[in-house]
Amino acid sequence: MADQARDAGWSFEDYLAAVLEREVSARNASGAEQRIKAAGFPARKTLEDFDWDAQPTARQQIAGLASGGFLLEAQNVVLLGPPGTGKTHLATALGIVAARHGHRVLFATATDWVTRLTDAHRQGRLPQELARLRRYGLIIVDEVGYLPFEQDAANLFFQLVSSRYEHASLILTSNLPFSGWGGVFGDQAVAAAMIDRIVHHADVLTLKGASYRLRGRGIDSLPSIRTQDPAD
Ligand code: ADP
Ligand code: MG
Repeated sequence: MADQARDAGWSFEDYLAAVLEREVSARNASGAEQRIKAAGFPARKTLEDFDWDAQPTARQQIAGLASGGFLLEAQNVVLLGPPGTGKTHLATALGIVAARHGHRVLFATATDWVTRLTDAHRQGRLPQELARLRRYGLIIVDEVGYLPFEQDAANLFFQLVSSRYEHASLILTSNLPFSGWGGVFGDQAVAAAMIDRIVHHADVLTLKGASYRLRGRGIDSLPSIRTQDPAD
């Protein structure tokens, strides 16, 4: 760049500004890359990789979220739908958006979150752990509903949701409609209180259709989901 500046006869100030700008954008990019690596995504999936023809109705809602504005308002995103419809893909892609916007992100399954919270609780440091997690602009909870929670686990999960309410964003994915969450949390009242906090400021997207994984394999849907209602 020094040669370029000399040849073009840049002033020292212009040269300095250009060098600093390059430095800042390199640092932002490497910061984003570090946040993406630290987030623990199961695979790197982006909005650019997503085939919108498979989920045409989600396109507009996701486009609104892609600006990252939802993170500044501590808004949540809930992705519902049957297996293979792109919930984890979109949750990851929004997580990458968040990392690129300068937010720290953590991704884990609901079961993993419960394990982490249970460990913290046993060690008497749950409040500190919740406070630490509040410094993350985005926490992603994948696969709510794959396994039902014990009552203690449900209560810990409720505390995670409460501690982030109106403070920092959550993205949750589930193969169950909200009406099925009572069974997951073992208690309709706990589930209702939790859903209330989650959806008060949230975009709820319901993905539809057959599994993208099974596309073109002559299998239209999985036997286990054929009788299940789509998420409400
Ligand atoms: P879910 O979490 O809903 O079960 P995933 O997000 O894990 O589904 O999607 C299953 C696989 O199919 C992943 O490899 C994902 O990247 C891919 N996939 C799903 N939907 C789409 C889509 N619309 N466009 C591109 N890839 C998709
Ligand atoms: Mg998934």
